[in-house]
Amino acid sequence: MNARTMPPDDAASIDTDIAIIGSGFAGLGMAIRLRQGGQTDFMIAEKAESVGGTWRDNHYPGCACDVQSHVYSFSYAPNPRWTRMFARQPEIRSYLEECTDRFGVRRHLRFGHELVSAVYDETRHRWQLAFANGQQWSARVLVSGMGGLSRAAVPNIPGLDTFEGKIFHSQQWDHAYPLEGKRVAVIGTGASAIQFVPQIAPRVAQLELFQRTPPWIMPKADRAIKPLEQWLFRNLPFTQKIMRSGLYWMLESRALGFAVHPSLMKAVQKIAERHLRRQVPDPQLRATLTPDYTIGCKRVLISNDYFPALSRANVSVETTGIERIERDAVVTADGVRHPVDCVIFGTGFQVADPFPRGVVRGRGGVDIVDTWRDGAHAYLGTTLPGYPNFFMIVGPNTGLGHNSMVYMIESQVEYILRALNTMRSERAAAIEVRPQVERAYNERIQQQLGRAIWSTGGCKSWYLDPNTGKNTTLWPGFTWRFRQATGTFSMDDYFAYAPTAQPTALPVHATASVHGSAATASAEAT
Ligand code: NAP
Repeated sequence: MNARTMPPDDAASIDTDIAIIGSGFAGLGMAIRLRQGGQTDFMIAEKAESVGGTWRDNHYPGCACDVQSHVYSFSYAPNPRWTRMFARQPEIRSYLEECTDRFGVRRHLRFGHELVSAVYDETRHRWQLAFANGQQWSARVLVSGMGGLSRAAVPNIPGLDTFEGKIFHSQQWDHAYPLEGKRVAVIGTGASAIQFVPQIAPRVAQLELFQRTPPWIMPKADRAIKPLEQWLFRNLPFTQKIMRSGLYWMLESRALGFAVHPSLMKAVQKIAERHLRRQVPDPQLRATLTPDYTIGCKRVLISNDYFPALSRANVSVETTGIERIERDAVVTADGVRHPVDCVIFGTGFQVADPFPRGVVRGRGGVDIVDTWRDGAHAYLGTTLPGYPNFFMIVGPNTGLGHNSMVYMIESQVEYILRALNTMRSERAAAIEVRPQVERAYNERIQQQLGRAIWSTGGCKSWYLDPNTGKNTTLWPGFTWRFRQATGTFSMDDYFAYAPTAQPTALPVHATASVHGSAATASAEAT
């Protein structure tokens, strides 16, 4: 089927070669590169009514990227019009809308399509997809661009349902609710909260910030991009390339401290300590805001206005744990009632379970939730034994604390394109990563992570699986190594299925390349 023959939206069942789920940087990035390669037989299912993923969903006051925009954009689509070094959410969302049109992927989009189940049909080698709107698709290849930070996490605090005031999560910001003159409780002090607290603090009557763990915060080197710079980027595009490259390597150098020599983080911590000292004159408040773990263990945040906001007379920081919520108050473990009109959760996302139970089922109907019982894992964060022709973008261990996720996304997209080309040339109906290849890869990744600051820095973070303590989210080190690892697609790492549903005897070599090292690849079937 090609775009010309695409059935209308109201068709009950649609056949497509490639189904992409999600239209954030990942899903759009995949779709754009397919189009650029001349592929038209693919569709993108998007649960919402517009593209943008996290940059559509998160629109809380102050929402902005904490990676410089020249790097946080597609390599093939530089944007000379960025207005700031760190673009704000509306600008990033517009950029993604523009890319959708510019690269001709809008006609492949189906909005209002929330995936409820994707089941692999072994006899037909196809993924059967069902959506909340009743639509059904059948696809040879399934690409998840659903991201790991899309499902809001609201803690199960006793009495939450009895609260009579206003409650919302940072991801579901209610702009219609007037915060002016209100007593507001903010729960959480992560990347989102530190962006919206300074924005709302001057508007509310009183803001109580419930802090469980203080974050380390570095100065943010943000500024407006001058018209002359924009002119240069527009008329002499190489200047933006130089800028991008310089920023990439500057950010990349941070992996040295995070993953290679964690002791280097001590020097970085000094900068954060100085930032805190300069911005918070009150020694008591400063002590409250000083973390007791090494910088880098949790995501390092950047802000120039968070600490000053906490020094305001109408803002207080509460560190006693929350015991319960009552009709009109937050009650802390010391029995103190904190009367509030509104509770805002800046409590992050359900990272450990990116797919709810029942949504993705591979060979034998096995739910991905069961496959990941001991923590999520995948080969190159992309493929998983038992799930043929299923590719994840921003899958396990592809997250970053130091550089642009768009770089990782592009690496994965190119890897998937290589896989698709190889399948075509090998005439394989489906491919599936060999379990021993995936296992060896993950053992190596976990070994590297064990030495990194995220494991040794003395903190608990969402990077670690809450049940096993394993770091299932981050890539351990330099991003160019990930680019290198995904830079070739080796069929030795995979089984191929002929259209008969049996794994074929495609050539199996003695060794398979696993992240730069050799791992034995036997002809093991599952
Ligand atoms: P987060 O980093 O997971 O922070 C959640 C905060 O809520 C933490 O301070 C956490 O405390 C606290 N918390 C969670 N459960 C709690 C409970 N039951 N009681 C009290 N406090 C609780 O979430 P986020 O700020 O939304 O950010 C999530 C991720 O999104 C970031 O790490 C980043 O990757 C991404 N993000 C990126 C940007 C950007 O600019 N690019 C902006 C926003 C978000 P503990 O620390 O004690 O767990």
